[in-house]
Amino acid sequence: MSATSNPATEQVRLYGVCDYYDAESLLTVDERKVLGRLRAFLDEQARPLLADHWERGEFPTELAQPLIDLDLMEPAELTGRGDDGGDAGAGRIPARGIYQGFRIFELARTDASLATWYTSQAGLFRTAIRVGASAEQQQEWMPKVIDFSLKGVFSLTEPESGSDIAGGLATTARREGEGWVIDGAKRWIGGAASADVLAVFARDVADGQVKAFLVDRQAQGVTLEKIHRKTSLRMMQNAHITLDGVRVPESMRLHNVNSFRDVAAMLRAMRSDVAWIATGVQAGAFEAALRYVTERQQFGRPLGSFQLVQEKLARMLGNVTSALSLVVRLTEQQAKGIYRDQDSALAKMQTSLLMRETVALAREVVGGNGITLETDVARFHADAEAIYSYEGTHEINALIVGRALTGESAFTR
Ligand code: FAD
Repeated sequence: MSATSNPATEQVRLYGVCDYYDAESLLTVDERKVLGRLRAFLDEQARPLLADHWERGEFPTELAQPLIDLDLMEPAELTGRGDDGGDAGAGRIPARGIYQGFRIFELARTDASLATWYTSQAGLFRTAIRVGASAEQQQEWMPKVIDFSLKGVFSLTEPESGSDIAGGLATTARREGEGWVIDGAKRWIGGAASADVLAVFARDVADGQVKAFLVDRQAQGVTLEKIHRKTSLRMMQNAHITLDGVRVPESMRLHNVNSFRDVAAMLRAMRSDVAWIATGVQAGAFEAALRYVTERQQFGRPLGSFQLVQEKLARMLGNVTSALSLVVRLTEQQAKGIYRDQDSALAKMQTSLLMRETVALAREVVGGNGITLETDVARFHADAEAIYSYEGTHEINALIVGRALTGESAFTR
């Protein structure tokens, strides 16, 4: 979108019409600078590669190191108060919630796979360490998580258990001597092929509780198989993982994970990131559609001059604005330390619902070209489906909200 300025501050805005009520005014000047750097990288280096890699179902690996080098997790400009308040204490409240949110928004506004790839390290894996590792483990691992020298993925879902993973988790961990032996399988694990370690959740056969382990991806007994033929998030690589008698030392067990409750604490924090992704995807689809209807002519006039098209533009803008307002408010609550399952579940559910409508409207106003990779809209439209389902489907998040509203759990186990 063309740059506009905030009348109160006369600052040039990063986000034009897709941030209708100027949520970015909550960012500091330095945070804006970092996001501007990310914007330039995405526009100049990433955007030209997207359609081709999406079509081939391959991640543009050449973007990984430059993206890491942008230093987005603990940017030098923001030193002293990083994502975790400048240190990595267990359970610390992120001090830079709104910046982190816009970081995801910016990535997703360009491409959902890039946002998912970055968030699998900066959100999923980092949260696993922040919530699950002991203070000593965090001291050793967190700096490496932040500079990506220890790349990890979150391996929870299994072939036979997705929504019911809390009760259905079947991967086992057996204590043997000074270490553990892990057996089982994991499904859909994003980014596993390029990770150093897999954060694997397994049920301790001795006490029946869920524990977590950092498993070396190259350890004996670990097999990774790429999931092929995806029709959504084609650039992001997902793996089916088999764990066959894999040995893990006790030092690689996350010492603060002692039951599924601790895993739930991780999911509570991570779901807000996905709500930001669902919001960014809408912004990207809306912007692409707006551009198209301004340029394309039918009946001798731009498509955007027709009343029925304008109604769809207004609905898309309404959706993006609602979603952005929702995630900003959720993030402000979480920055105050208010973390509740139902809050992030509601945000993930609602922003994903809005996203599905927004990308469908965007596709609609672009007509036939909305199903080619030339306009960006098709990519957002297809990728939205994976986001709609991962980190808790619509139904599961609705049931979490329903449980909070009624005091009755509709889950059967
Ligand atoms: P199922 O649980 O089989 O559900 C199928 C349908 O039934 C859904 O519509 C669901 O809502 C509905 N349903 C289930 N139970 C109920 C109920 N009680 N009431 C009403 N409806 C119900 N997992 C990881 O651990 N790490 C990852 O990195 C990861 N990345 C992913 C990336 C992608 C692209 C995808 C698609 C998934 C990823 N996942 C990952 C897994 C994801 O979290 C699961 O797909 C999700 O939790 C849903 O599980 P499922 O696919 O097995 O669906």
